[in-house]
Amino acid sequence: MNKLRQAKRLCSVSPDFSMIPRLLLHVCCAPDATVVIERLRDEYDITLFFYNPNIHPAEEYYLRLRELQQLADKLNLPCQPADYDCEDWFNWIKGLESDPEGGRRCEVCFHKRLEKTAQIAASEGFDMFATVLTVSPHKNAQLINLIGSQLGIKYQVPFLEANFKKKDGFKRSLELCRQFGLYRQDYCGCIFSRNEREIRKKHNGSAP
Ligand code: SF4
Repeated sequence: MNKLRQAKRLCSVSPDFSMIPRLLLHVCCAPDATVVIERLRDEYDITLFFYNPNIHPAEEYYLRLRELQQLADKLNLPCQPADYDCEDWFNWIKGLESDPEGGRRCEVCFHKRLEKTAQIAASEGFDMFATVLTVSPHKNAQLINLIGSQLGIKYQVPFLEANFKKKDGFKRSLELCRQFGLYRQDYCGCIFSRNEREIRKKHNGSAP
């Protein structure tokens, strides 16, 4: 049984099995959302949830949000942005500023974004929650799924485990991104990943 079907089976809290489950989908950027929406929209009633206080600077945050809202309009999906509480984010990752991308800082960053998604999913009566974060080849799907599942237990709302980079998910997101004419960023999001990108550019003469 594949992961999506397993997750649907887990969704035993849904009061009516004839209904398509309501899924709150955490989205970090429109390009990554494209392929996940394509894969899930036949089986789930999706609401996009933009909660990314990690994104720096504010102009970049609002640019990514605007792109997602435009994609949501094109696909006729609801899009729910949360507050841009970037001061909280800097407090959460205090002491981890110099960790490399993929280290403990990212773990905290995943956890905080997924925790807010789980809280909203529980308080607003969604059947499940999920994230598009695993589309990125740079992100550890196993870790993200572990965090999501633990939060699912804590907030009593099932987390849909998946690794959306599988089956050429990332490649497909690039194709869809071109088709929709979306802006695609070249760094993960926080100031530290932006600085790392600048250093790489200097050394390689190109973006990652
Ligand atoms: S590199 Fe990406 S996942 Fe890691 S802390 Fe920065 S924004 Fe978050």
